[in-house]
Amino acid sequence: MADHNYQQFAVDAPIPVLNSQPLFQGTNHDTVMDEPQDLNDYSAMNDTQNNIAHLQNATVDPRALQQDAAATPLSMSEESEDESESYSSNSVSQDALRRFKPTGICYDIRMKLHANADFSASPHHPEDPRRIDAIMNQLKDAKLVYRGKDSDPWLVEELKKSPNKFMQRIKARHATEAEICQCHSAAQFLWAKTLDTYDSKELRDMTDIMDAGRRSLYVGNLTFEAALISAGGAIETCKQVVDDRCKNAFAVIRPPGHHAERDESMGFCIFNNVPIAVRTCMADYPEKCRKVLILDWDVHHGNGIQNMFYEDPNVLYISLHVYQDGKFYPGPPEEEGVEDGGIRSVGAGLGIGKNVNIGWHDQGMGDGDYMAAFQRIVMPIATEFSPDLVVVSAGFDAAAGDELGGCYVTPPCYAQMTYQLMGLANGKVVVCLEGGYNLKAISISALAVAKTLMGEPPERFDIPPIQRGADHVLRQARRAQAPYWACMRENPHEQLMATKQDVKDTAAFTVDDAIHEKRRRILSLKYKMVSVYIQRDIIHGIFLDQVLSTPLWLEGKKLIVIIHDPCVPTPIPIGNKRLATDN
Ligand SMILES: [Zn+2]
Repeated sequence: MADHNYQQFAVDAPIPVLNSQPLFQGTNHDTVMDEPQDLNDYSAMNDTQNNIAHLQNATVDPRALQQDAAATPLSMSEESEDESESYSSNSVSQDALRRFKPTGICYDIRMKLHANADFSASPHHPEDPRRIDAIMNQLKDAKLVYRGKDSDPWLVEELKKSPNKFMQRIKARHATEAEICQCHSAAQFLWAKTLDTYDSKELRDMTDIMDAGRRSLYVGNLTFEAALISAGGAIETCKQVVDDRCKNAFAVIRPPGHHAERDESMGFCIFNNVPIAVRTCMADYPEKCRKVLILDWDVHHGNGIQNMFYEDPNVLYISLHVYQDGKFYPGPPEEEGVEDGGIRSVGAGLGIGKNVNIGWHDQGMGDGDYMAAFQRIVMPIATEFSPDLVVVSAGFDAAAGDELGGCYVTPPCYAQMTYQLMGLANGKVVVCLEGGYNLKAISISALAVAKTLMGEPPERFDIPPIQRGADHVLRQARRAQAPYWACMRENPHEQLMATKQDVKDTAAFTVDDAIHEKRRRILSLKYKMVSVYIQRDIIHGIFLDQVLSTPLWLEGKKLIVIIHDPCVPTPIPIGNKRLATDN
């Protein structure tokens, strides 16, 4: 039955409180600080800064409010002689001030250089360089991103008054070999690096071979350049958020990453941008970035991300994707022993339980199914995990209008998912583009996400009921995760016992079935009794192996029917009638 409980996440819920900590701790500061109420009231913030500047041993440093705070990192010794105490109080102030910081945006035109070397009249490929342009133009048209230069005097003045008026640009850069080789083999890096040594015909020939099946990859002369910028853009975007220079951020990057394996580029992906960024942040900020949630809402399973962190207890990977019993892309892994995107792939070793696959049984999933998944699985597990950073592998190919995905997720639903994730990790959410091939659909979906990151409450929308098949998938996923997460065992509203359909799916059997089967075998051996078919499939299924007869009963002249009186009847509803099974 459809469970409508998830509608409690209706979009008119209050904005999540991102700062679980009070703005100021201690007695002195409460009376001195006038917290600006209007997030856009920068003059109030200036007053705030002046007040803070006079505080002795303040928990807040005014530089934290400035955009170039990163250029002047806080020295622990300036704050206090006790370094550990200083770090602690400083982190409280940073947390409290995060909401006043801008939302970052990373984009670099060089990422368009990865293009198909096919120069024919119709070189179209779904992973089109215009994808990132389409998104950026949508953000600019909506005035979320300033069209002029960062140094424009008007912009500088405007940002003083309202630092959140526009998204703050984050410069992409080339990822280094060392950064990339945290997630990829040296041979894989070298393979990508040497792509520019081939001429166009050779690249076309390579693409002809690779751009099919599980590999699904095209390459060009400048693929390596674009891939380095894409990975470097993800790294810089995550760093800006981890290091509190932006409250959250959006990396509009390509080529995408989540299919790329350690030893092989595949699925339109060269290097796996998100894991590279996550590993870099965990290495560079060991105190601030200990545990990371990667939430992958691309319609395809992020096989590369799963495999890179499969045994890592500090990186929780949750993927919502179409699985279709393993048939939907990327399909079964070529290597034996490697898990696919199925629900039972839950991680291994120390990382057991840190891999959560919500693999839909089919395409056609929509807002109701995604909202239910968030309510029943994503948010409970993510909350229990309590990450320091949330990175969204944000493909928009589950969006309504994307032909590859064939699903119907709307922009308000993407906004709502973003909004819920912003309640984690003190709001440290980084959204990194993955797939999504309908230029209109990805643009309006990305716009909804960007607005939410900037603080706009998600649009109201009617959440349809969850589909029956999706409900079944969520139940299976909860059961698969129940051994590892208390929250998966604690929902009193959900029946965690297996249904008959679950039993069928898992090729298991009930105790009743086992008893009936055993009895049939004994009677068959002793008296050659056979099971009689009842001419209604549904009733025959219920009474399977319970109606038995001696052989050749059709030829008998007298028929003796013995009915066992059910001692503890188990009523099974069929339509509006109730039948009782023999136990
Ligand atoms: Zn995808």
